[in-house]
Amino acid sequence: MVMEEINVDMAVIGSGPAGQKAAIQAAKLDKSVVVVDRIPDPGGACLYSGTIPSKSFREAVVDLTRFYDRHFEGKSYSLPEVTIDELNSRLSMVITEERNIISRQFKKNDIRMLSGSARFENQNTLIVIDDDFRLKYQIKAKTFIIATGSNPRNPPDVPFDKDVILDSTTLLGIGKVPKSMLVLGGGVIGAEYASFFAALGTQVTVIDKKEHMLPLLDAEIGIHLQTSLTDIGLRFYGKKEPVEIARKNDKAFVRFKDDTTLEADVLLYALGRVANVETLHIENAGIFLSPKGYIPVNALFQTNVPHIYAVGDVIGGPCLASTSMEQGRLAARHACGAKTHHFPEVYPIGIYTIPEISSCGYTEEELKAWGFHYEVGRAHYYEIARSHIAGSNVGLFKILFHAETLEILGVHVIGRSATEVIHIGQLGISFHAHLDYFIDHVFNYPTYAEGYRIAALNGINKIKFKK
Ligand SMILES: Cc1cc2nc3c(=O)[nH]c(=O)nc-3n(C[C@H](O)[C@H](O)[C@H](O)COP(=O)(O)OP(=O)(O)OC[C@H]3O[C@@H](n4cnc5c(N)ncnc54)[C@H](O)[C@@H]3O)c2cc1C
Repeated sequence: MVMEEINVDMAVIGSGPAGQKAAIQAAKLDKSVVVVDRIPDPGGACLYSGTIPSKSFREAVVDLTRFYDRHFEGKSYSLPEVTIDELNSRLSMVITEERNIISRQFKKNDIRMLSGSARFENQNTLIVIDDDFRLKYQIKAKTFIIATGSNPRNPPDVPFDKDVILDSTTLLGIGKVPKSMLVLGGGVIGAEYASFFAALGTQVTVIDKKEHMLPLLDAEIGIHLQTSLTDIGLRFYGKKEPVEIARKNDKAFVRFKDDTTLEADVLLYALGRVANVETLHIENAGIFLSPKGYIPVNALFQTNVPHIYAVGDVIGGPCLASTSMEQGRLAARHACGAKTHHFPEVYPIGIYTIPEISSCGYTEEELKAWGFHYEVGRAHYYEIARSHIAGSNVGLFKILFHAETLEILGVHVIGRSATEVIHIGQLGISFHAHLDYFIDHVFNYPTYAEGYRIAALNGINKIKFKK
């Protein structure tokens, strides 16, 4: 095959959320753009092993196990048998639909997608090679966007395979729903999959060296989560560190520092991710890495080489598809000389455990540590009519506000539709709204959003009472 030489305004490496939005933005600004990805179809890890399959898995579990019927049927509820094929067939439908949408968007915007692994030759040139190390393309571009994402961290002393000792990518290839599962790591990915499998009836044990799962959460929300997960049969062991992970008699085996051991049908190793930089040869472009292996950038997402930008997981936290998309768009705007703004200070975080969680703004622990004069308004899901109707009366709305000015400082929701309703709180925080907004306005009834009004009334009554 003859190598093709390409000259463009912008070359984007990676077609995940960060790369997609960067490419589309640049094309909308009339720039010629190519996107290179070592996966032939667009979508990135987000589409094939991250956000989309995990969220489709969750939705399928909730649907197929008739999760909310538990509430109405009580003791007579019996968990339907759900097969991995049923779950997978939903996942593949969603992935196909999403992939088609991205492909159409690329086509509509004249974005050429090139398949192969990209590496820098110098600051102005990329080369793309195929799986057999044949040189396919040489790309010269005025600007570059590195959006190569991340992969699960797989330490060499962990004997990963494809059916017993798994990471979040290989977990999606298992042949049957396991009877038991160990999850090493109580972070977002570990907690989400642990809750999905617990809802499927798997005996799940989560182990972490921290005292609680998801320690980033407002502590009260974290306790609520732990209680809800215990109710669906999940076990959590904190302050435990693995020293040996092995496959023994087709079971996953873990020995801990305290010499205790655990065994299960499968193990999900969910202890961190690493940036995809190993094949990029960024040193040829004069770009350096942070001590943790990420690409450092300034507030405009420029690397130390100003016409080369980096966005998404490859630059480190928060490592979300949602934030990656906006980083990509902003970087492309700056690279194309268009008016832009800085990445927003306030953005929501969504955690799709069962029950789901979403947060925006300060936690109570932060406000306490910084000496804010704050108050809290709460609404339990059992106080919200919509929850009774939907059989999902487990959850909490928590609004943190300034006790004198009533400005909304933080919103934390655990329960059904938390990741949707959080955007009302996000708007409130972004526009410096005061708590009385939720009291003085009418909410649709019955809705989960009504939780804001109930929590606001709860909060305001505390202030009145104190006066
Ligand atoms: C299990 C799981 C669940 C998640 N759930 C959520 C969620 O609910 N909400 C949320 O917002 N985020 C979630 N995330 C995080 C989200 O998926 C990532 O933040 C997001 O995918 C990052 O996007 P990206 O564009 O930076 O990179 P990616 O999506 O990782 O895409 C990077 C692409 O670059 C390609 N690439 C890498 N190196 C090269 C190279 N040298 N040459 C060519 N191509 C290359 C890769 O093949 C890949 O296609 C989840 C992640 C995981 C793992």
